[in-house]
Amino acid sequence: MKKSKAEVGKKKIIEKTIDGLSENTKGSMCGYFILVLVYVAACIIVNTLSRSDKVLNISGAILPFSSFAGVLAALNNMCVIFMVVYYKKLGYFTALLALVIQMPVIFLTVINHHTLANIPGLFTDVFTIVAITMLFKNGEGVRRYQERLQEQALTDTLTGLPNRFACTELIENLIKRSEKFAIVFIDLRNFKSINDTMGFNVGNEVLIEIASRWRNVADSELTSTHDFIARLGGDEFALIIRKYHSNEDVLNTIKQYETALGSRLTIDGCDLYITASFGYAKYPSDAKTTDNLFSYADAALASGKKLGSSSNILRFSPDLLKKERIIDIERKLKLALQKDTMYFNLQPQYDINHKLRGFEALARMKDENGNVVSPGDFIPVAEKVGIVDKVDDAVIRKSTEFFGELIKKTGTDITLSVNVSVKHLMKNGFIDELREVLENRDIPANQLEIEITESIMIDSADKALKCIEDIKKMGIKIAIDDFGTGYSSLSYLNNFPADLLKIDKSFIDKMNISDSSKQYVAAIISMGHVMGYSVVSEGVEQQAQVDTLREIGCDYIQGFFWGKPMSAEEAEQLAMEECKLTTV
Ligand code: C2E
Ligand code: MG
Ligand code: MG
Repeated sequence: MKKSKAEVGKKKIIEKTIDGLSENTKGSMCGYFILVLVYVAACIIVNTLSRSDKVLNISGAILPFSSFAGVLAALNNMCVIFMVVYYKKLGYFTALLALVIQMPVIFLTVINHHTLANIPGLFTDVFTIVAITMLFKNGEGVRRYQERLQEQALTDTLTGLPNRFACTELIENLIKRSEKFAIVFIDLRNFKSINDTMGFNVGNEVLIEIASRWRNVADSELTSTHDFIARLGGDEFALIIRKYHSNEDVLNTIKQYETALGSRLTIDGCDLYITASFGYAKYPSDAKTTDNLFSYADAALASGKKLGSSSNILRFSPDLLKKERIIDIERKLKLALQKDTMYFNLQPQYDINHKLRGFEALARMKDENGNVVSPGDFIPVAEKVGIVDKVDDAVIRKSTEFFGELIKKTGTDITLSVNVSVKHLMKNGFIDELREVLENRDIPANQLEIEITESIMIDSADKALKCIEDIKKMGIKIAIDDFGTGYSSLSYLNNFPADLLKIDKSFIDKMNISDSSKQYVAAIISMGHVMGYSVVSEGVEQQAQVDTLREIGCDYIQGFFWGKPMSAEEAEQLAMEECKLTTV
């Protein structure tokens, strides 16, 4: 029966896939020739030995040479079996030919030498032919069955295209061979609505039609590259592009697949308009593992939707991951603010004699799965998208509530420091907010401290200065955070109405490494004192740093060595213990 064109096409694709997968698994031709050689040599020796009347004398035991013929005949059979098992059709016909040729040779020997000694060899040949024919037929059956199984495992049943498994296997093979290629993820844009409105059958027809169009492109000479199209599942397809010279070639190939979608598909008399998005990543320039290539091609595809790109074809770039990450953090931030799940930790600050000075409230956030997102990640995003004031608000609201309660319970005179962004600081009504907080929570103004970063002070000088002066007038303390990381001039700093300088961790880290770094920190402390500021060192992690800071006159210490950021409950415990110590 003649096979249909589609069936032939499908067979071709599967063969291409299987070829791609089993490139290195075929039996070597060198082994085949060795088997043939051994076989021929053994035949000649058997023939000679069987007619020989010589004997071998081994310690008085007499062995006729002809008795070794049986051993070599067994070697012959072994060669024949190996040929059939390892070299399939080629091995079987070679063996058959060799055995059939031997028959007239045996007859001639019987006639010419008037001996019947070779007649059993004739029967051995016939029986061997029967045995290898059965072996070959059985092997063929198993091979056909294996092929069918392999075909099923590699094929997508709906469209007949190779499936995700085949695609992954091919990629792994290409990586093993270090062959460059591009993996393109394709997503049909409006497929879901077709499925929803017109039903699964029409959806399936669409997929079959698109697969067939793309298969034709892959099999044609339309592109300058070697392409392999697969269906990953649903409306997702993958295209592997090989043998390209430049990115231009990759783009041109993708465009051919885009064009093949056509302007419309007519299914069941209905005109459907289908478009697709393409996202691609290249091996080895973008990624070197299958997992990364898949996720990068997917990220490129998704970026088109998330970033609202006007192009249908997007290439992976490391920037994309960054943008995606920012978008993801922004989403988590907005969710946390909306559900009011933002919370705070408190990190203790001590004077140089290890007496508690107060706590710094630090914003904390978990995503919807309960994973902690670091403030080092979400604060810059909050600043970038303009919602950092909402973060500050949440932390100030919650931490002052806790602090007001703590004062009520213990009568403590320690300080609560809160971080405030410049956006929040300059917001109309911020001063009123602070006033309200102090009144509602019953917190004396001098027990609240606002931390603003040095760089912020410089960027928005005059307006910020006015706000800070107003805050200061209320009796609230002002700390300059991360001091040393900005470039504030001495004259500006001299006029700044702050109470405290917080030396950034980066200086404390280097302080004990070189004498000049130590002198630098010592100079900041002296300068701070001259200007009337107290000085806190941030990020103190070792006893040696505490010793040096004591020696050079630092006032306060904040760092993991004396206290990591802790929960409100732990902070309350710590404050209570301190109060007991002071009253004893
Ligand atoms: P920051 O205000 O300078 O806070 C100190 C940071 O240094 C905290 O990081 C703290 O955990 C960390 N730290 C303190 N001691 C050590 C130490 O010994 N070793 C090390 N490795 N780190 C130490 P965190 O909590 O990750 O906060 C990072 C930054 O995020 C803060 O730096 C602050 O600029 C910002 N931030 C935190 N909470 C808020 C907030 O409520 N509002 C605003 N606007 N910014 C906030
Ligand atoms: Mg701070
Ligand atoms: Mg800091």
